[in-house]
Amino acid sequence: MKKIILILLIAIASSNYANIKVVASTTVIYDLVKEIGKDKVSVDFIARGDQDPHFVEVLPSYMLKLRNADIFFRIGMGLEMWSGQLIDGSRNSSLKVIDLSTDIDKKEVPNYKPDASYGDVHPFGNPHYWLDPENAKVMAKEIYEALASESHQDEAYFKKNLDEFNSRVDTKMQEWTNSMQKVKGKSLLFFHASWVYFAERFGLKTAGFVEPKPGIAPSPSHNAELVQIIKSKNIKTIVMENFYSDSAPNQLSQLTGVKVVKVATAVYGLKSVNSYIDMIDYIVNQIIQNS
Ligand SMILES: [Zn+2]
Repeated sequence: MKKIILILLIAIASSNYANIKVVASTTVIYDLVKEIGKDKVSVDFIARGDQDPHFVEVLPSYMLKLRNADIFFRIGMGLEMWSGQLIDGSRNSSLKVIDLSTDIDKKEVPNYKPDASYGDVHPFGNPHYWLDPENAKVMAKEIYEALASESHQDEAYFKKNLDEFNSRVDTKMQEWTNSMQKVKGKSLLFFHASWVYFAERFGLKTAGFVEPKPGIAPSPSHNAELVQIIKSKNIKTIVMENFYSDSAPNQLSQLTGVKVVKVATAVYGLKSVNSYIDMIDYIVNQIIQNS
């Protein structure tokens, strides 16, 4: 028996088993960690792909996920207001918490002191930077650096995975840019202000948002203003995340004929969206078919 245990221990020690334990706040980060870490990393996520990442109820089971983790990656910029409670509750004093926003060229950063009492869910600027594929590469580099510093012997392996991911994104980026030429310069309505990075990257114009302010529910008076905008600017499309209620967009559709396009803005947000690249493919296809 002792011999068997010894053999097992040696086998575990010398095998390529996952040696860095990672928890990702979102499924997009989860997917990027898998791309860079592959079999050297075990990774789990907190917010589901069909869930609003701004509002996640912290469950004891999420704290347990973090208890034994080495690294917790999050989007940062205040997207995961719930993550502080999660980290405290994990009672994991050796946990490394890494915001992937560090090297991002941030948009809509306010020059006033943010006040959460206004209900503003973007108090530190717009945190939805992952919808620009160029930013996925910035996030992947941040993940690579964190994994390499956690496991120096695997640095070259992680670097190779990073290079492969970047080159796949670059190839797809040409395809997405070509496809989006068809709708370049068009004005669209969006539900939440999650689309500023995507719109700027691909040359879309934003006519307005169904939410009066980020995180503030649609209102009849704001919808009435949007009807005027849709008519005066001849807007054809509202793009929204599939986890929001579509009742306000559907009212706008009934009044004006505007199309409501629901997409996933996270991995696993829809059945066909199983990777970051799937997600951008899906969004691009939906927008070019419906705009
Ligand atoms: Zn937001």
